[in-house]
Amino acid sequence: MAKPDAWKEQRSGEQVDRFDDTVCGVCAREATGIGYAPRSSRGTPDRPILWICDDPDCIEIARNSYDMRQEDFTRIESLASHEGGHALEAFCEEIGKFDFREFSQAEFFEANRRMVAGYRSALKIKLRDEAPF
Ligand SMILES: [Zn+2]
Repeated sequence: MAKPDAWKEQRSGEQVDRFDDTVCGVCAREATGIGYAPRSSRGTPDRPILWICDDPDCIEIARNSYDMRQEDFTRIESLASHEGGHALEAFCEEIGKFDFREFSQAEFFEANRRMVAGYRSALKIKLRDEAPF
């Protein structure tokens, strides 16, 4: 049987790869084939492409936060996940249920949707607000 807090050890080694080509490096929605990388002196990108969605805000935020260090992104991503948790908590308060076993299927799906939406929104806002570039 796994230790009750085994997830802590597993989680501590995980980092979200901002340069993953399947998700937006700003808001974590599905990437749409648009990417950003600074141009080299030859005018062509010579650094990894930061894949993004088609939201114009994400394009600008990607440009302004491209050089953010991984540890700063990881910190912001962690803060955004807390915001997702707060969105879930707010939904639970809204429906007056705090035990998932009492949720209807529709309530459970909506709870998940709100948590993910809260995470994505916070990730985008925090990247925009904290990018010092
Ligand atoms: Zn995006």
